[in-house]
Amino acid sequence: MLSPLQLLFPATSARERCEQIRETFRGLRKQIPLLYAVALTNLVGMHVSTDGAEFVWISPITWLSALLVWRMIYWLFLQADRDDLSAILRELYRLIFFTVVLCAGFAIWAQSLITRYPDQTEIILLYGTLAALGAAYGLASFPRAAILPLLILGIPVAGRLLFMDGAANRGLGVSLCLVLMLFMRLLYTHNEALAALVGNKFALKREHDRAVRAERAARERADRDVLTGLANRALLLSEIENRLTIGSAVREGSVLAISDLDGFKPANDAFGHAAGDAILREFGDRLVEAFGSEAVVARIGGDEFALFWPDGLSAEAIANRGDRIIDLASRPISWEGKKLRVGVSCGVTQAGPRTHSQSEFLRQADSALYKAKEAGKGAWRLYDSTLLELDWRRSELERLLLGREFKHELAMVYQPIVCCDSSRIHFLEALARWKSADFGDISPPEFIRTAERLGMISQLNEWLLERALESAGAWDHEVGLSFNLSAAQIGREGAADRLLEVVRNSDVSPSRVQFEVTETAFLAEISIPRREIEILQNAGCRIALDDFGAGHASISCLLELAFDVVKFDGCLIRNIERCSRSRGIVLSLIELCHAANTPCVAEHVETIEQFELLRAMGCDFAQGYHFGQPQPDGQVVHTRRAFLE
Ligand code: C2E
Ligand code: CA
Ligand code: CA
Repeated sequence: MLSPLQLLFPATSARERCEQIRETFRGLRKQIPLLYAVALTNLVGMHVSTDGAEFVWISPITWLSALLVWRMIYWLFLQADRDDLSAILRELYRLIFFTVVLCAGFAIWAQSLITRYPDQTEIILLYGTLAALGAAYGLASFPRAAILPLLILGIPVAGRLLFMDGAANRGLGVSLCLVLMLFMRLLYTHNEALAALVGNKFALKREHDRAVRAERAARERADRDVLTGLANRALLLSEIENRLTIGSAVREGSVLAISDLDGFKPANDAFGHAAGDAILREFGDRLVEAFGSEAVVARIGGDEFALFWPDGLSAEAIANRGDRIIDLASRPISWEGKKLRVGVSCGVTQAGPRTHSQSEFLRQADSALYKAKEAGKGAWRLYDSTLLELDWRRSELERLLLGREFKHELAMVYQPIVCCDSSRIHFLEALARWKSADFGDISPPEFIRTAERLGMISQLNEWLLERALESAGAWDHEVGLSFNLSAAQIGREGAADRLLEVVRNSDVSPSRVQFEVTETAFLAEISIPRREIEILQNAGCRIALDDFGAGHASISCLLELAFDVVKFDGCLIRNIERCSRSRGIVLSLIELCHAANTPCVAEHVETIEQFELLRAMGCDFAQGYHFGQPQPDGQVVHTRRAFLE
């Protein structure tokens, strides 16, 4: 059963119906006063042409006219926007009611006039017709209501004409019937058009809403870290940019902290990714709980989190936040009945007059983090003038390395690796030296790291190898060249082929070349360095595991890969003549290597006592200041002869 509302406004949904009602009201508002004016004119016209000047206060005409004038004024002042749907509906129902009352009143009164003034019948009917058509036209925006004047007033008038004497009257009656039909048809189409208009408007709005929702969801996805729900790097950067940058500089006082979980990788490796995810989520939650109300909390990398305080912090507050971040990570994380433990290192920076860009801002925090890690993890460090100085030097070095001049300042020095039994030189290790015009001597670790950061280490090292091979070409054929490879270099596919090409272009056979690699080359990814190393070994080159004992993974490296020689880090040798524990450790390491059929080299042998001890323990080779400082080529050859004699 259709409700009156459904009957008046046929729509597919309630929302569409509401829109139809509003649309109808909008359409009607302006023309309703005019409609009442038309009705009033016809009423008065009919009165003048019948009762004429005779005016009686209490008569149907006065009542009807008063009603019309009141409705006209009412609608004239009803121009304000009406959002209240029930108020609109009330108006529309009232409109229907008055339309029925007025049309019926008009019809009854016209009938009474015709009875009293039969000779004026045509005029009365003409006014009736005009009133019916005028009212229907005025209500055209509300088709279901517009039909009422036609039914209540139009049809009786047409019927009356049809049954009157005279062909002219009947002709008029037929014509009026046709006009009424035409009008009804028009109203029907209008109704359809209104429904379609609202329907289309709705479809458009739905599409628009869907597009807006999709865009918002896409933006959310692009801005959020999926695992933790925190802001991601992109959002953090835009937050810094939107809220802080003035011109290109970051507003002074704001604070950025970057923290990196310590021990995350071992926990992830030991307990699996689900445990790793739980750690990241829990730490993220703890950060939000502690600082979410004052800072933007973001996950900006694997186990890297960032906190950004746009409004700045006092020195005391910074210290407090730093301590709390460390404390938050130190509490154990429960996962499947286990207690997982990680730690965090954190770098903090406060934007100052020299924070020229957001990338500079991030770099400062990164730099402080790096220093915190270097100082032994589980601590936070504030970016200060010392670090600023270091950063300045770092960027200056980068500038020099990217230029062409620095290669003229590079040189190679060579340090002998001596056989403990025969005291003969077995290999000469090539070590790079950079004497910069601007900075003086720059240590190899410093410029090698800078070259790694710039992604130019392979290029640089291949060039150094070329020079070392040039020197080695002139050496005794029993002396090989030992050359250091950077971890970043050997971790790249194709590294071995390029190195072999350099070797083959020289006068030195691959069997005289030894490449030294450290365990850091295998920490992140082992399959590529393993393959590259095998290619070098298959070509006849030897591979030495350098700095054995200085890191954490040395023994696992020995298990994973077949090295031709192992070099004990200088830190193991330092105390052997004084400390029996050191001696015990070195002795067992020598035995370990021998058990793996791998000869070993002791580095940093500085005294005859150290050398004698190592020889007695069965160490195969030794290297260090005791045999000579690293020296330029000519002098090295001289030293070598001294040993051979
Ligand atoms: P490393 O391969 O462990 O080289 C041994 C370092 O110990 C050298 O430092 C050497 O000068 C120093 N040394 C030698 N004997 C003694 C000693 O008796 N006592 C002490 N205290 N030190 C001694 P250097 O030349 O400063 O090189 C440092 C590191 O830089 C090297 O460590 C190596 O990893 C890297 N490096 C040097 N040259 C190159 C190169 O051409 N390419 C690459 N990729 N890395 C290089
Ligand atoms: Ca080395
Ligand atoms: Ca070494």
